[in-house]
Amino acid sequence: MSETQLPISSAETNDAAEPLSITQIQFRHAQRHIKGLKRGLIEFFQSPKRTVKVCFPIEMDDGSVRTFTGFRVLHNQALGPGKGGIRYHPDVTENEVTALATLMTWKCALLKVPFGGAKGGVVCNPKDLNDAELRRITRRFIHELYGLIGPNTDIPAPDLYTNAQTMAWIYDTYDVLHPGENNRPVVTGKPLDLGGSLGRPEATGQGCFYAAERLLEISPLPGLSSVSGAKVVVQGFGNAGSVVARKFRDAGAIIVAVSDSQGGIYDEKGLDLDSIVEQRHEHGTVVGMAGTQTVTNEDLLVLDCDILIPAAIGRQITKENAHLVKANMIVEAANGPTTPDADVILAEKGITVIPDILANAGGVTVSYFEWVQNIDNEEWELEEVNSKMRKKMHQAVDTVVARLAELRAQPANQEEDTLTEVRADLRTAALVVAIERVAQATLQRGIWP
Ligand code: NAD
Repeated sequence: MSETQLPISSAETNDAAEPLSITQIQFRHAQRHIKGLKRGLIEFFQSPKRTVKVCFPIEMDDGSVRTFTGFRVLHNQALGPGKGGIRYHPDVTENEVTALATLMTWKCALLKVPFGGAKGGVVCNPKDLNDAELRRITRRFIHELYGLIGPNTDIPAPDLYTNAQTMAWIYDTYDVLHPGENNRPVVTGKPLDLGGSLGRPEATGQGCFYAAERLLEISPLPGLSSVSGAKVVVQGFGNAGSVVARKFRDAGAIIVAVSDSQGGIYDEKGLDLDSIVEQRHEHGTVVGMAGTQTVTNEDLLVLDCDILIPAAIGRQITKENAHLVKANMIVEAANGPTTPDADVILAEKGITVIPDILANAGGVTVSYFEWVQNIDNEEWELEEVNSKMRKKMHQAVDTVVARLAELRAQPANQEEDTLTEVRADLRTAALVVAIERVAQATLQRGIWP
């Protein structure tokens, strides 16, 4: 085995069950296109720098006491402090948080945002918890992390089932623990009055739109040259999904289906998004909206459409359903929605996938802008935030498309490689750009000591 190759188990070449196996397979596909990456660095990039697991008791409103488990994983800091969201979900595992922290490293590198990768999560079901309980969980989790997060070391943000209110509690808790300093940059995605940035709540959805807009502009697809007039399906109608639907609609797309954890709704003539927001507010779900047809989340993914936008949870497009997908393009607003086996099937079908580390990078980009504003005690106009983000998203798309053309012109390194030959796609090209940047930064800094 050569200095630049690592073994991969046969289990990892299957439709990987674990999120971390998926990021490792994706890494291996990219790594084959990178010349001279030392084996030790490959191992380092496939492992988190630090993993913290905490357990803590919380007094519930009914007087009972429950123990919760939380994770904060710092994957890499070569380019700057760790950056990544905190999610609250019953399915949070160390494996998933590590995979998501790894994706953050590549995402920040790709967008040239001066952060490393991190992620956190608490195993809980927010739907069963009231605000006071969520506040106590958040405060206690941040207290357990104490000095492990910080404005210059590791900076959380919102993710699945956390929001600006959660970020306000994180900021306040950290500020109480570290008095006398400007602690606003310790967390992003805060409410505006506490130093949040204009445009941050919409940034992930807005960034998805900028990525799709640019890709279609420089590399139109057969039968799909613009967002305008495209039929769009969105899985998940939360922060990312509801905004992405609105941004695509505002650009002339027809949103034919959206969903949440309880199911989806479909109308081939196009859904009225404002009424859906009202419906969700009143009934807690999009399902049941008058004049729409109810569909399952499984059926939603294979509806007839031009653009499919998974914006909920991971591993939704797998080898079980990829061959049924009818969209021309998939824009990954969610993290990790497509498995490696599904990627192969989608490529064979000629479906273009804008990968998560590119498509949803608008969120971390505006988080970076929030961090800069907090350090400078500045407040940028919305136009400034969006035009800066648009520029970064477009540059990243241009870089990835150009790199993909180069990769396809050169064969990948097949030496002693057990992975099946897969034609390079946008995901691989994006990862190649990102991994090379992190590798270069690591070597320029010099391996310590
Ligand atoms: P959110 O909690 O605001 O919304 C999640 C949505 O997904 C909700 O509508 C929920 O009902 C739905 N959902 C949950 N389980 C589902 C299931 N099994 N099937 C279908 N829908 C389901 O979360 P969010 O912040 O919008 O994050 C969504 C995704 O986007 C996550 O993968 C997250 O990692 C990714 N992301 C978010 C941001 C951000 O800034 N919020 C940034 C980058 C990536």
